[in-house]
Amino acid sequence: MQELLKRLGIKEVNDGAYCGEWLETNGRLIEVRSPIDDSLLAKVKSATAEDFDVVRSEAQKAFKVWKMIPAPKRGELIRQIGLELREHKDDLGKLVTLEMGKILTEGLGEVQEMIDMADFAVGLSRQLYGKTMQSERPSHRMYEQWHPLGAIGIISAFNFPVAVWSWNAFIAGVCGDTMIWKPSSSTPLTAIAVTNIVHKVLERNDVPKAIFNLTIGTGSTVGEKLINDTKVPLVSATGSCQMGKRVYMALSKHYGRAILELGGNNAVVVMEDANLELALKAVLFGAVGTAGQRCTSTRRVLLHESIFDEFAEKLKKAYKSVSIGDPLDENILMGPLVSKAAVNDYQTALTKIKEQGGKIIYGGKVLKENVPGTQYVLPTIAIAENDFPIVQQETFAPILYLIKIKDIDQAIELHNDVPQGLSSSIFTNNMQYAEQFLSHKGSDCGIANVNIGTSGAEIGGAFGGEKETGGGREAGSDAWKAYMRRQTNTINWGKEMPLAQGVEFDLD
Ligand code: NAD
Repeated sequence: MQELLKRLGIKEVNDGAYCGEWLETNGRLIEVRSPIDDSLLAKVKSATAEDFDVVRSEAQKAFKVWKMIPAPKRGELIRQIGLELREHKDDLGKLVTLEMGKILTEGLGEVQEMIDMADFAVGLSRQLYGKTMQSERPSHRMYEQWHPLGAIGIISAFNFPVAVWSWNAFIAGVCGDTMIWKPSSSTPLTAIAVTNIVHKVLERNDVPKAIFNLTIGTGSTVGEKLINDTKVPLVSATGSCQMGKRVYMALSKHYGRAILELGGNNAVVVMEDANLELALKAVLFGAVGTAGQRCTSTRRVLLHESIFDEFAEKLKKAYKSVSIGDPLDENILMGPLVSKAAVNDYQTALTKIKEQGGKIIYGGKVLKENVPGTQYVLPTIAIAENDFPIVQQETFAPILYLIKIKDIDQAIELHNDVPQGLSSSIFTNNMQYAEQFLSHKGSDCGIANVNIGTSGAEIGGAFGGEKETGGGREAGSDAWKAYMRRQTNTINWGKEMPLAQGVEFDLD
């Protein structure tokens, strides 16, 4: 492990702020422990409010230069970062697993997602298209163009400690923005490792060095500085709904823009005609994968009454075969929860399920035999009603609610009857069910799938959700537009000065 940390430039004690070079920080010392066995990985000295100001000011200076570099040349820098990530994929993927606890194949998959994002952003750097419109005035041309925005903020959550940064950073980078990253203070080492990888690329290119900046600290210190900084025009924030509300309120005070990627309460509908084997695989990965710690994790299964018992039995059987333990071991399917606080949330939810009338049919236990660390839990299945308060909220743990439905109308009604709106899916071979679910009568989520699960989105689409999930979109499609400012231009190439809407304003 020491060798791996060294290869990624992680020291025993690390500075917590970067703006082209590492600043000597002296904020609160963070001890980063692995959720696998509670072992100490390294320490980080958090950034202080003063460090943040230095970083922001450097990011702003760099913006003035970076925005003048043509977008395809900016893309070239991202291309090189993508190559460097390929070189470091194994090490970085393993560090994701060590620091956050997801199984190794998912840790590696997360780095692959960064590489895919880099490739996507390189192509995008030759596009960033604006439209040309027809002017109502003779001899006029009207079009729109997209300009870089400024030094923006990126707040990321612990569960995708590096991929979420790349969704934002590579797109913002080709758009001409510089950025300040505030990662979760549970996962600062992967952020330091990524910054070291980026630093190598910056060093060998003639570009400003403070494009991809970093400040490590808690939400209440560095986070609050970032969201209250009137000079930061946009903050992309990934995390809980509660955090998103706070970010939105702070930004609205200075008309800052927000991209909010918040909690989900994702459901799979399984209709009477569904291929149950397919549905089973999707629900298992969706609910148990990443130990239920994905924003797109499956939290609810809305099962048609005719297949309810059969599906519940099959699911229980599948849950029994899930291997739980060290996520670095390739035979393991489920690693630990990220922290003791997460285990507490899991236990509190179990109590509430019972209090509110639910029935736990599998799991519901913390696995003490995995001490030290006691962060391993049994994935849990409970029979519940959609309107239980506990079902209405996101518990960031592997707890799945089975809910009975009678028909497609009730399925859609219950599906949408939660405050969040991120990811959704239906399993059916009935074209009318599928089309209804995808129509405006159907799922109210940002992501809606047929015959695949809620979890594991591809980067080519715009990712994000509605309602309390925050409304933001990141990654593919035209999500890049949020990182730029749109300018409408009208040019008069004639000899008259006609006004729009036929308005006359002549002196004679
Ligand atoms: P969290 O809300 O505890 O923290 C997320 C980030 O916000 C951290 O970096 C934290 O330090 C920061 N933060 C907290 N308070 C802040 C404040 N006042 N000002 C500025 N920053 C602040 O979330 P978490 O436990 O790290 O992650 C789990 C949550 O993230 C879940 O709700 C999950 O659904 C959500 N999530 C959403 C998406 C998505 O794309 N929709 C993706 C991943 C995770």
